[in-house]
Amino acid sequence: MHITIIGTGYVGLVTGACFSEFGVFVTCIDKDKNKIESLKNGVIPFYEPGLEDLVKRNFKQGRLKFSTDIGEAVEESLVIFIAVGTPPRGDGSADLSYVDDVAKEIANHIKSYKVIVTKSTVPVGTGERIRKIISQHLKEEVDFDIVSNPEFLREGAAIEDFMRPNRVVIGAKSQQAVAIMKDLYRPLYLIETPFVITNIETAELIKYASNSFLATKVSFINEMANLCEKVGADVNVVAKGMGLDGRIGPKFLHAGPGFGGSCFPKDTKALLKIASDHNIELRIVGAAIKANENQIARTTEKIKNAFNAIKGKTIAILGLSFKPNTDDIREAPAISIIQSLLNADANIRAYDPVAMDNTKTVLPDITYCSDAYDACNGADAVVIVTEWNQFRNLEMERIKQLLKQPYFFDLRNIYDPQKMQALGFRYYSVGRRTL
Ligand code: NAD
Repeated sequence: MHITIIGTGYVGLVTGACFSEFGVFVTCIDKDKNKIESLKNGVIPFYEPGLEDLVKRNFKQGRLKFSTDIGEAVEESLVIFIAVGTPPRGDGSADLSYVDDVAKEIANHIKSYKVIVTKSTVPVGTGERIRKIISQHLKEEVDFDIVSNPEFLREGAAIEDFMRPNRVVIGAKSQQAVAIMKDLYRPLYLIETPFVITNIETAELIKYASNSFLATKVSFINEMANLCEKVGADVNVVAKGMGLDGRIGPKFLHAGPGFGGSCFPKDTKALLKIASDHNIELRIVGAAIKANENQIARTTEKIKNAFNAIKGKTIAILGLSFKPNTDDIREAPAISIIQSLLNADANIRAYDPVAMDNTKTVLPDITYCSDAYDACNGADAVVIVTEWNQFRNLEMERIKQLLKQPYFFDLRNIYDPQKMQALGFRYYSVGRRTL
């Protein structure tokens, strides 16, 4: 089978590479010429563990192609995936202009039956919207089907998530389209991946509901952490005690500086907007968003308040990406925290294993360091914002010697409060009272 993926970003490239690994012939399309040229030369535009090998291997074996020519790719493909961005607009709604553009372009090039699949996260009703746009712009009478196939991969573990997903959701009206999608995903059928086959609207909503639920779990435990700090409880143990209950589960109960990334912040806001457009108030999702904004602000205040005056202080920031194993800094808590500290006239020395180049585009004037120790050199405090593995076993004596003052903010609760105090640090974590 030949397929086309339009939009070769985090989702499009992983999807294309993984399908080609399944033996499918894939053309990845992007309007960004530089990106396509780099990919042809084996340069992966972002950091994702294992992706480079997968792309290079399948490219070499001729199953994975990169192109800016949508026409040729559409013509030879039975299935066309839309994987372009759906960034937030000012009112929280998803910006569908990229999706609309792609729908028009597809319409210009279809000459035979196609299955057009949305992988982008899109509001309920977008499948119908795409159908209308394509129908209006078709050059000749051609049959096509629309499918919603939302993507649940996690950056940093994207290949494993694609190859061994918890579930595959397929929303479609036509049985023919469902059969083609099942055929495409056959390798996952063989490993007994659960398939949820439903209508397009339900599939579209499953994606938003899932992300909003996970975001709510994070905000819930963050608010518990704030209470723990006041009453002398330990949020790690609270989370463990809760998570052992099978009805609750242990995942997404890690207190921290607040959620970020390219999905949770935008998808929660988009879901609120979808609901309000239908006169439904989603109070819980709204509260999760507010709690998150509060958590990021509260974290920054915690750092500022530890000092008599933050002005002129140098703060070492460890971790810039919104989570480990990615270079994605979209809505990363580290960026908000740094901006707020800069506004208070603090100086920043930052280090991240892979996200510094991306961060330089938004924060060009902070000092970028060669490793965690370099970042701490001469700083008044160190803040672990992202829990990269290499920050999990720092040489604490060395860190203490390098710091001007032994202030240690562990926003991911990696270290043991008693041990850190015994080492002479003024140690702050999340939801564990230590001072
Ligand atoms: P991205 O910004 O990394 O990639 C989007 C790509 O689409 C870019 O390379 C852009 O140049 C290209 N593009 C835009 N308009 C185009 C056009 N007309 N023709 C060809 N290419 C075009 O975005 P992403 O993070 O991969 O997200 C894509 C979608 O998947 C979003 O809706 C997102 O919410 C959803 N999603 C993302 C993740 C994630 O972890 N990043 C996970 C699940 C779902």
